[in-house]
Amino acid sequence: MALRLDIPLEMARRHNLPKEMSEAEFAELDANPPAWLAQSRANRRAGTRPVWQTLTCVVCGETETVRPKKWWPDFTYMACYSHSPNDVPEPAPGTSRSEVYGVGARFIAIVDAPGGK
Ligand SMILES: [Zn+2]
Repeated sequence: MALRLDIPLEMARRHNLPKEMSEAEFAELDANPPAWLAQSRANRRAGTRPVWQTLTCVVCGETETVRPKKWWPDFTYMACYSHSPNDVPEPAPGTSRSEVYGVGARFIAIVDAPGGK
């Protein structure tokens, strides 16, 4: 039951949820969750469960799957460290380019931000 409600077992026990519930009972609880359940669900949704992101090199197509970090910029391109900056597509007119290191293990993030030279 706790699994279906997406809450810890311990929480189900604390709130005296029956181990077995009928579909109707479950639907009722699901549609009208008590405050503690609604809160728990909101926390889970906003929670820190890691989301994986696949970075793809714009030059050679190499990928790396990483957990995104909060400090990452909105990057325009990803490129491996090993490529020359000349291999990366030109920045769009009216943007200025900066490079951010440390995104993933092998990538440089290329950020083209409005506000050019
Ligand atoms: Zn590459």
